[in-house]
Parts: sequence; structure tokens; C-alpha cells
Amino acid sequence: MKIGVLAIQGDFAEHIVMLKRLKVETAEVRLPEHLKNLDGLIIPGGESTTIGKLATDYELIDPIRLFGQRHAIWGTCAGAIFLSKDARRSQPLLSLMDITVERNAFGRQVDSFEAELDVPEMKQATGTKDPYHAIFIRAPIIESVYGDAKVLAKVADGRIVAAQQGHLLATSFHPELTQDTRFHEYFLSLAD
Ligand code: GLN
Repeated sequence: MKIGVLAIQGDFAEHIVMLKRLKVETAEVRLPEHLKNLDGLIIPGGESTTIGKLATDYELIDPIRLFGQRHAIWGTCAGAIFLSKDARRSQPLLSLMDITVERNAFGRQVDSFEAELDVPEMKQATGTKDPYHAIFIRAPIIESVYGDAKVLAKVADGRIVAAQQGHLLATSFHPELTQDTRFHEYFLSLAD
């Protein structure tokens, strides 16, 4: 299994570290040809407007859209925004997932927080019982999930922070910033 990480902006290095811990072959994706022979792609956290602009400049938008029709893609935070069909403002999006996101919905950088989440699908796929400790940094909420997308996790007040649509995965939080590899394992189960 070989997983690419979009490496044009954001915390792609942390995702690569997590994948290496799971003994998965990795590739940094900066150009369309880097998508060749990958089984899945991770789009990291960072700044979704910058990721969108650079992806446009490097002519990555259409190739990633095409890749996502057959392969697993996981967006964390800014990556989740980039995967969505609607970010409630004009910015380049992959428009692959039937989700509407609201950027910076929990407030500013100082309002970053951590929370325990119950994620039944992830627990089942990894054969574990513990809740998932999630890190939110200027995180979006997934305001609505429609069409083929389904909710994977919510915070205590009911706001949606993880969604899945077939082999596409979106999380508002940053599993790459924890020591817990279970979300990456879950993604690998979708890429398999
Ligand atoms: N606030 C950023 C955005 O709107 C996302 C932040 C993050 O990825 N940690 O793109």
C-alpha cells in the first residue's frame, strides 16, 4: 500500500510520520504525476485558501478530483474544507464530498481545543474501545451532510466534526498531531 500526502502547504510532514509508524509506503504529492500508483491521498491541515490557490497553480485540482473517483482521500481540517462541495464562500474546492463546512466555526486560534470523541466506525475497524482524543485548531464544523455522505463523529454539543462518503473521509480535527494512529488505520482500511 502506498499513500500520498499533498505536500504544498500545511502539516504534511506529521501525516508522513504517522504513516511510517504504520509501515506504509508514502509519497509527497506536489504535481499531478505524483498521484501515479497511489492507493490513497491525505490532504493535511493548514490554510484551505492557500492549499486551493497552490493546487490551482500546480494544476492539481482536476487530477485529484479524478483520483478521488476511484481512490480514498482523507482531508484533515483545511483538507476537509478543500474536499467539500461548499465552504460558504468563494475559494477553490475539490467539490468531492456532499458536505457543507463552516470555516473557523469554533472561533480563532486561541479558541483551539481538545475533546474526547466517540467514533463507532473507527473503534470497530481498529478493534478498540477507547474514545478518540481529538485536537481542533481553528477548525471548521461540518455544517451539513447530505447525499451519500454520513456523519462519523460529533462533539458534545452535536456539531459534526467527521464525515465519510464511501472512500472519502473528512475530519475537522488533526489526528496527525496525536500519538494515536487509529484514525490513520481507519483511513487505510478505506484505501485497501
Ligand atoms: N482555519 C483553516 C482554514 O480555514 C483551517 C485550520 C487548520 O487546518 N488547522 O483553512
